[in-house]
Amino acid sequence: MVKEKVNILLVDDEEALLDSIKRRLQIRDFNVIAVNRGDKALEVARLHPIDVALVDLKMPGMSGEDVLLHLKKDYPWMEVVIITGHGSFDPENESVYNQAYSYLGKPCDLETLLRVLVEAYKKTVMNRLRISPEEMEEILVRDGLKTPREVLKKIKEMDQHGGDKSPSLNDPA
Ligand SMILES: [Mg+2]
Repeated sequence: MVKEKVNILLVDDEEALLDSIKRRLQIRDFNVIAVNRGDKALEVARLHPIDVALVDLKMPGMSGEDVLLHLKKDYPWMEVVIITGHGSFDPENESVYNQAYSYLGKPCDLETLLRVLVEAYKKTVMNRLRISPEEMEEILVRDGLKTPREVLKKIKEMDQHGGDKSPSLNDPA
């Protein structure tokens, strides 16, 4: 896995969707490992430093719910985004669903997906570094970061260097 990129674990039993999302995210400079089963997803998470998981709810074998619960139990900092077909959300399972960062309906457009993945990654980094949303905003504002690309670059630096000890983008090199 490439350390400078955000590592996405993508799990969906629809192979066509898997390929199309993977290709589109890779063009946008994400590193994507795509698998079509829940048990394979857990195996990948054991072997690779995953930042954000994108998990289909309805899959044969291990369900997306179970993947979500296993990932959050073993890697509590990792944010998980659930992708669901129409009507497959069961509000009675609130205690399970509260553990997901967000839900996206299928089909989801690329811009929405990218925005949610970057936000989820930001949350993963805040979890890892134990910094609050307020502290994160303060850092981004202090450094004058505005574009999504600048923000993402800063978050990646923080992730790699352990938080606010990393130099500001505005500091002279
Ligand atoms: Mg499915």
